[in-house]
Amino acid sequence: MKAKNVELPVVKNEYYEMVIDDLGINGEGIGKIDGYTLFVDGALPQEKIKVKVIKTKKNFGFGKLIDILEPSIHRIDPVCDIAKRCGGCQLQHLSYEGQLNYKQKKVQDIIERIGGITDIEVNKVIGMENPYFYRNKVQFPVGSMGDDSVNIGFYAMRSHNIITTDKCYIQQPVNKDIIGVVKEYMLKNNVKPYNEVSHKGVVRHIVTRVSFHTKEIMVGVVINGNKLPNSDELISNLRKIEDVAGIFISVNKEKTNVIMGNKIKMLWGKPYITDYIGEVAYNISPLSFYQVNPVQTEKLYSKVLEFADLSGDEIVWDAYCGIGTISLFLAGKSKKVMGVEIVPEAIVDAKKNAELNDIGNTEFYVGKAEEVITGKYNEGVRADVIVVDPPRKGCDRELLETIMKMQPEKVVYVSCDPGTMARDVKVLGEGGYRVEEIQPVDMFPQTVHVETVSLLIKK
Ligand code: SAH
Repeated sequence: MKAKNVELPVVKNEYYEMVIDDLGINGEGIGKIDGYTLFVDGALPQEKIKVKVIKTKKNFGFGKLIDILEPSIHRIDPVCDIAKRCGGCQLQHLSYEGQLNYKQKKVQDIIERIGGITDIEVNKVIGMENPYFYRNKVQFPVGSMGDDSVNIGFYAMRSHNIITTDKCYIQQPVNKDIIGVVKEYMLKNNVKPYNEVSHKGVVRHIVTRVSFHTKEIMVGVVINGNKLPNSDELISNLRKIEDVAGIFISVNKEKTNVIMGNKIKMLWGKPYITDYIGEVAYNISPLSFYQVNPVQTEKLYSKVLEFADLSGDEIVWDAYCGIGTISLFLAGKSKKVMGVEIVPEAIVDAKKNAELNDIGNTEFYVGKAEEVITGKYNEGVRADVIVVDPPRKGCDRELLETIMKMQPEKVVYVSCDPGTMARDVKVLGEGGYRVEEIQPVDMFPQTVHVETVSLLIKK
């Protein structure tokens, strides 16, 4: 049944003046016209703007920012020319101080609304000295305008249209040379970009990872096929770029938004690059997760260490351990650290990384955290501290149940999505844990994303 047409205070395609009150979870400005909520990309709190209403729903609508009549004191000119259109950065028009305040408030709101926790003030966000050029990893989509062109860049906001660019202010400048070489190779050898609609064409993405410490670079080309023609030419030109240490192809023939395929074939060089966080060295292979902001990762892990407050006698679980980064960071202060991770290649890295650093008190397991930790619990294995660092969807309920049965002294929750963290912390709160401290860390400047570490203590 169609809802009755109620009169809205705004009319689609009409222009209005309004004041923005808040910044939403995706960085959009939010304000009201006669009590009716409008979301306006690019507008900031306290700004008076001219807006065109472009979409209306019963309880809220969307507006296009036409003009800023009174700008916020936190508004700055984005450093990047394509910041407005690109889906990568949502907050370049907001001063860095403004970004940090926004992220603190975002975590505070979510922890209250979803976590039901009202008696904790979230710490100030740990920011960066230089909040640009911080990423060590990039995945450039490759496409075509429908002619013979090769377009490499980033997806536009909320779309898969590629905005062509070879300069990104949060990436490493060397990527410009890398995409230049791949593009030239593709044009010369008639290697076509992949087309998502027709599922034809070859090159889907160019992925690179740079070690900030050793400078080593890993370059990957994700292809809809098994091999690249005349790949020797590509290899030889990529090798001319200083510090390229390995080149691989990743086979991905699926109709999917997942970027990397599961099969990695090294074309040349080492199958991993080495980086350091603090004193600990890590080898990282193409399929392994590794934090994208190495400068902030050290601050993040130091917070984990501080929250875990280890004396040297503790048994620790590091759930969702990736290549064992947190496990090895904590190992020196613990009796034993056990890590669990679902990607087998990452666990191979984790074991090698323990050897690389001469760390003998770690054990690593491949599998789902919820299954492995529960299985071990049923065999009698206990921990004093459990660190969890799940992907965006948060912890599996079964893992939370096991934690509540095991009752470790502390749970340190590392999260890239405050929403799911708040949900899980609420469950643990009902199972005997109290939140002691919440520390956001800005791993992703210029974007709306925020990383958080929370300390939970057994009541
Ligand atoms: N702690 C690591 C990795 C965190 S990212 C670091 O700081 O580098 C989250 C990791 O969880 C990824 O490596 C992902 O592969 C892994 N993962 C996802 N689901 C999982 C599950 N159910 N059990 C164990 N690991 C999982």
